Amino acid sequence: MRTQVGIVGAGPAGLMLSHLLHLAGIDSVVIENRSRKYVEERVRAGVLEQGTVELMVETGVGARLEQIGLVHHGIELRFNGHGHRIDFADLTGGKGITIYAQHEVVRDLTDARLAAGGQVIFEVDDVIVRDFDGPKPFIRYHTDSAAQQIECDFIAGCDGFHGICRPTIPAGVLTAFERVYPFAWLGILAEVAPSSDELIYANHERGFALHSMRSPQLTRLYLQCAPDEQIEAWPDARIWEELHRRFATRDRWKLSEGTVVQKGITEMRSFVVEPMQCGNLFLAGDAAHIVPPTGAKGLNLAVADVRVLARAIVEFYRSGSRELLNRYSETCLRRVWKVQRFSWWMTSMLHRFDDNNAFDRHRQMAELDYVTSSRAAAQSLAENYVGLPMED
Ligand SMILES: Cc1cc2nc3c(=O)[nH]c(=O)nc-3n(C[C@H](O)[C@H](O)[C@H](O)COP(=O)(O)OP(=O)(O)OC[C@H]3O[C@@H](n4cnc5c(N)ncnc54)[C@H](O)[C@@H]3O)c2cc1C
Repeated sequence: MRTQVGIVGAGPAGLMLSHLLHLAGIDSVVIENRSRKYVEERVRAGVLEQGTVELMVETGVGARLEQIGLVHHGIELRFNGHGHRIDFADLTGGKGITIYAQHEVVRDLTDARLAAGGQVIFEVDDVIVRDFDGPKPFIRYHTDSAAQQIECDFIAGCDGFHGICRPTIPAGVLTAFERVYPFAWLGILAEVAPSSDELIYANHERGFALHSMRSPQLTRLYLQCAPDEQIEAWPDARIWEELHRRFATRDRWKLSEGTVVQKGITEMRSFVVEPMQCGNLFLAGDAAHIVPPTGAKGLNLAVADVRVLARAIVEFYRSGSRELLNRYSETCLRRVWKVQRFSWWMTSMLHRFDDNNAFDRHRQMAELDYVTSSRAAAQSLAENYVGLPMED
């Protein structure tokens, strides 16, 4: 098989890249090792920055998002038994975020690609990428035990943190920067209407908690837990009890309980590789970087990367110039590091660290007090949360 761009991974990065390239008349093939049903039901992120929403709407994949997405213009920071609203609309000139589940984004993009005659090949095995240091890279894989090969001009490694593209790059090319946090998130999805119209980030002396939502009927809740926590140790009753404790306010705010339909533990990590490219192989999204979910940035960063990559590829086919391609990594990394900084900052402000001493606890409280009482500090949080401008 021959195409212009071979894309490994049908997550938000791979599918959005394929969609953007198609709109510019460039052919691509996406291969994915999981089934279509699996990727369309995988519950992960759910907060879309304004720029991500605009991109989806402008490129014709935003109809359902506009219909069922929940637009929020603020979040609450809760500490010492009180809630403090950060008003995004006021602080950013009307901007906001939209709650729309990642698997819905994946569904919309997959539907759009297939409806346009695009190729998204699911359930492939034994994927390898080769010869990306030259002009004729190729991807090999198996479907139903038959070997297949895609010859292409470029390969996009959009295969997530555990994918094969990044590890295939020869030793010595990439430098990895990493911070693993000494805690994880225990997340549940509960069949109950959200207890608040907006997200609540709680810093409690027992640990962090987050109240979020996926729809008017589905609440997403997270608790900070030990990194090696066993999910079996957390029956539903224990989870609700701990959530009630961490969200408790002096004015007796009430958290509604519902049937827990999903439970899981997510590790917390900050990770970046530099550069995000090697010859004609370009890494995008989680394949190149991971952020702790506190800032709700993973999906948005993946979309921002492929927007830069799509433009560089389009420019190459239009003019023959590799200038934007050569600068792909540099362009993305400026935004990536700013988003890393924000995600790390939110994480360190809101979580309990085991080595927190009394000084650190007071410093954390002072930081929250500052962010919720200074317009300048609140504005900085708001500007980052709704999304920094896309790099041009
Ligand atoms: C459990 C969990 C919860 C999360 N929660 C949040 C959250 O609340 N907020 C937030 O902002 N972010 C969250 N994230 C992060 C966010 O989901 C990711 O940043 C986002 O999915 C990145 O998109 P991507 O396309 O780069 O990677 P992915 O979505 O990981 O897509 C990569 C795709 O490549 C496929 N693949 C992997 N290996 C191969 C291979 N060898 N061959 C072919 N295909 C392959 C995978 O199956 C996958 O479909 C969460 C992540 C996880 C794992």
